[in-house]
Amino acid sequence: MKFNIITIFPKLLDSYLEEGILSRALAKKVIKIKTHDLRKWTKDKHRTVDDTPYGGGAGMLMKIEPLYKALQHIKKSSQKIEKKKKKIILLSASGKKWNQALAQKYSTLEDIVFICGRYEGVDWRIKEFIDEEVSIGDYVLTGGELAAMVIIDSITRLLPGSLGNENSVAEESHSKKNVGEYPQYTRPEEFKVGQKKYKVPPILLSGDHERIKEWRRKNQKIIK
Ligand code: SAM
Repeated sequence: MKFNIITIFPKLLDSYLEEGILSRALAKKVIKIKTHDLRKWTKDKHRTVDDTPYGGGAGMLMKIEPLYKALQHIKKSSQKIEKKKKKIILLSASGKKWNQALAQKYSTLEDIVFICGRYEGVDWRIKEFIDEEVSIGDYVLTGGELAAMVIIDSITRLLPGSLGNENSVAEESHSKKNVGEYPQYTRPEEFKVGQKKYKVPPILLSGDHERIKEWRRKNQKIIK
């Protein structure tokens, strides 16, 4: 799976990619991530990627030409991939809401391009050149980079070879609709704070796997 990120801050995500599961997935070539500095597709000496909105209004908008050129460039590298195996996503606070079901669906793709907006957003004509707009939640971020990383992270952990234990994704929150995870504990069996003792439920120490399974099923959180 290849992720392309079009951004004006190409270094912003580096440290997140240097640690943990994403760095391992990169090293094992389960994923590839290519950041594209949007300013590369500007012509003027200030490498301008934004301008004022027609009709007035607050803030600046990202210009259409550099974005279009960046997309044309990236498309060349994915020419051989079937249309249904690739997507161009504009990150947008008013897009389709990202969730685990979408992460599962998109984990079967081969190539995703993310356009990370900044300023007040992007010239509306970008909609002619994308497949969809995606939001990671009902709030407004300063840019699309974090949203791209949230999506990349949630997809990557579903890809075979990226987690140590493949079963962990089958049994966790949202793997079934509206079902959260069950309570889990690790050592010590008894955790003391002053006089108060916090104990692990005895059934989990019983070694009876059938009863433990049933207990976990009954205690799974229902997500409202
Ligand atoms: N004026 C825009 C609006 O009212 O929706 C907000 C622009 S925001 C300051 C700048 C960029 O951050 C957006 O173009 C988008 O790429 C990204 N962004 C902000 N909130 C987001 C969210 N919830 N999900 C995904 N991307 C978001």
